[in-house]
Amino acid sequence: MNCQQTKANFDERLDNQLDPSSRVAFDTHVNGCPGCAAEWRAYSGAWTFVGQQVAPKPSVGFAERTLRRLDETMPTQSRFWLAPVWRWAMAGTLAIAMTAGGWFGWRVQDTRQAEVQAETYAMAQQDRLEDFDVVAALHLLSGDSP
Ligand SMILES: [Zn+2]
Repeated sequence: MNCQQTKANFDERLDNQLDPSSRVAFDTHVNGCPGCAAEWRAYSGAWTFVGQQVAPKPSVGFAERTLRRLDETMPTQSRFWLAPVWRWAMAGTLAIAMTAGGWFGWRVQDTRQAEVQAETYAMAQQDRLEDFDVVAALHLLSGDSP
């Protein structure tokens, strides 16, 4: 058995699928060929390592919980509003409402600022009008006729 034949039989040798004479020829070549011996050690070692791995086991009650959840799957008719179309429609409506709410909030704030400015202006004007009243009433103190 040459190197190419030996490497082609790695799987069969690993699974003990070689007939006795081929197995002897395989082992004889691997024992006498450092290149094939190194590849065989790496190949068989990797598969031995994989074979030693223990598959994770599900937790206690996993099957029961899974079956219960499958039984609890929502009926499609009672949750129609969770359909993608309705979800997108609700998301769009919410986005519009938030935008409009923000705009109206800004308008209310703007209106409120205008009211404050008007009140400030009116108060200032009120003071000025009172000054005019005092000036207009000065003639009463001096006895002049208006
Ligand atoms: Zn070889």
